Amino acid sequence: MAEDCIFCKIIEGEVPAYKLYEDELVVSFLDIFPIHPGHALVVPKKHTVDIFDTDEETIKQMMAVAKKLALPVMNGTKAQGINIGMNNKPAAGQEVFHAHMHIIPRYSDDGLKTWSKNLFKDDKHKQELYEVIKKAL
Ligand code: AMP
Ligand code: ZN
Repeated sequence: MAEDCIFCKIIEGEVPAYKLYEDELVVSFLDIFPIHPGHALVVPKKHTVDIFDTDEETIKQMMAVAKKLALPVMNGTKAQGINIGMNNKPAAGQEVFHAHMHIIPRYSDDGLKTWSKNLFKDDKHKQELYEVIKKAL
């Protein structure tokens, strides 16, 4: 439990939330400011900040629970699709620094853009980046 962490407080039951699911490793609850109603979060019980300090077993369980919730959330909200995503670090939009995955109902006409469709034109470093990333795996 990290001090002043809103998600730790939810996990400890100090702050109320609409808990959908709980097991030994993760908990899921509805987002308080949903992008669409039914927007849910999957959160590790042990406080970690983001994907980088969360162990593989927990990440696997977060994704397994996202999978478990995907259909009930989609059907329950009459959505036509679901985005599953994780913001890691402020540059990627992270605002709560307790790791979490979003499960977001989507509608074909909802006008939301997951990300810009402007493809990055200058890809001259592709080969170099390919080698750097591959080597680091
Ligand atoms: P992110 O930008 O990925 O860090 O997203 C954090 C999410 O946590 C946002 O969608 C918030 O609406 C959500 N959130 C913040 N506080 C609470 C809370 N007390 N209960 C449920 N969701 C929350
Ligand atoms: Zn926390």
